[in-house]
Amino acid sequence: MRTEHLTEKDIQRAADLLRSGGLVGIPTETVYGLGANGLDAEAVRRIFLAKGRPQDNPLILHIPSADWLERYCQHVPPAAYALAERFWPGPLTMILPRKPLVPDAVTAGLDTVGMRCPDHPVTRAIIRAAGVPVAAPSGNSSGRPSPTTAGHMLEDMEGKIDAIVDGGPCAVGVESTIIDLTCMPPRLLRPGGVTLEQLRAVLGEVAVDSAVTRLMGAGERPRAPGMKYRHYAPKAPVTVVTGEPERSAACIARNLEAGDGVICFDEFAERFAGHTVEKLGPASDKAEQARRVFDALRAFDSTGVKAIWAQCPDPSGLGLAVSNRLNKAAGFHIIQAP
Ligand code: AMP
Ligand code: MG
Repeated sequence: MRTEHLTEKDIQRAADLLRSGGLVGIPTETVYGLGANGLDAEAVRRIFLAKGRPQDNPLILHIPSADWLERYCQHVPPAAYALAERFWPGPLTMILPRKPLVPDAVTAGLDTVGMRCPDHPVTRAIIRAAGVPVAAPSGNSSGRPSPTTAGHMLEDMEGKIDAIVDGGPCAVGVESTIIDLTCMPPRLLRPGGVTLEQLRAVLGEVAVDSAVTRLMGAGERPRAPGMKYRHYAPKAPVTVVTGEPERSAACIARNLEAGDGVICFDEFAERFAGHTVEKLGPASDKAEQARRVFDALRAFDSTGVKAIWAQCPDPSGLGLAVSNRLNKAAGFHIIQAP
């Protein structure tokens, strides 16, 4: 199904598939999701099987508007409505206390649940038609880069799902920002399209979970179970180089060996002629970098590169989300350019 040609009947079909326990690929503004009826524990288990996802990594429930929050959550604080008012529909997931009807399969047994209202009219129409919240993680095989096109999702999910709704390339390109509203101050668990600066403008103080900027230690207990897993990893090892773009490019040029690949800002692509190069977007355009980062990581898997060197933006604004995804792909193997 493609959105350009989508009819009311297609939306009904996708909704029927979801209601009857099927798995449906859904477009959102962040990345493609692998959706199932979030109240049907059996359907939710099929998501974990299709992705090869560890059972202790909880899923996000997708709803068409904030007035569905109290169906699935309790003690919803005013801050949740303030955030919904400002950022929904949009790339923000809120962690809230769940109601008992939300299955353990969704929350990995936690007493909280992640809630999001995606900014994609077709997907919201499908959820409304289904009449149930849609549990949906990113539509990649576990550990691989998230899919930002229907084609990328099919690379991983062909034969494992019942349908995919093709809504074109995703506008944001990285997964939603996750904010935990069950603690004081609220805590950023994952940076995404809604920035830390935007959250602080609404909430005041916001803590940043340590898993955002560094690797969890072996014995450490993460706030969200999913945060301990290696993510987004291409097959070749990745090294992230931070610092002024001119300096990080020079640092990569000094270390690069024959057969290595490079992820760089557009301005520096020519400097790495002779290597496999994936452009991340202009150094000053973090929104483009967010749209490009997963495609860039994924593209190396069809090449024979031995190692990947990546330029990284500074962490302000959307740079926090882009650098977090690059760092996770690198297992937090990071060099600061001198
Ligand atoms: P994905 O949909 O693949 O982006 O993964 C969803 C992520 O949301 C998980 O890896 C968790 O980090 C986070 N998450 C979902 N539910 C919760 C929750 N109840 N508490 C904390 N984090 C959550
Ligand atoms: Mg994911």
